[in-house]
Amino acid sequence: MSKQSCTKCGHEFLRKEVVASIRKGYRPITCSSCGEVHLINDFSKLIIAMVVTLPIIFLLLFITSVFSMSPSQILITGVIVLAASIFSVQFIAKYETEENRSSKI
Ligand SMILES: [Zn+2]
Repeated sequence: MSKQSCTKCGHEFLRKEVVASIRKGYRPITCSSCGEVHLINDFSKLIIAMVVTLPIIFLLLFITSVFSMSPSQILITGVIVLAASIFSVQFIAKYETEENRSSKI
């Protein structure tokens, strides 16, 4: 859960670069310092999918019935939960260079 940085030159990626990459369907990040292209790790894609969907499912199935919430309360809570998970995604996403990825396969 550390900040993302370039594996080649150590340049730290900006939070907005990471968030923009995830929003645009895990678009590769190009290091603004050395130009190295970084792809998102497949395993972190899986974790992100779980982090974004599981709290919503949990909210809908359990919390709403336990606290008998109104539809507007469910909506507000859902938005807060979704915002929190989207915020945490940037710390979960792991990037690797194209070279690293092909050497693993
Ligand atoms: Zn770099």
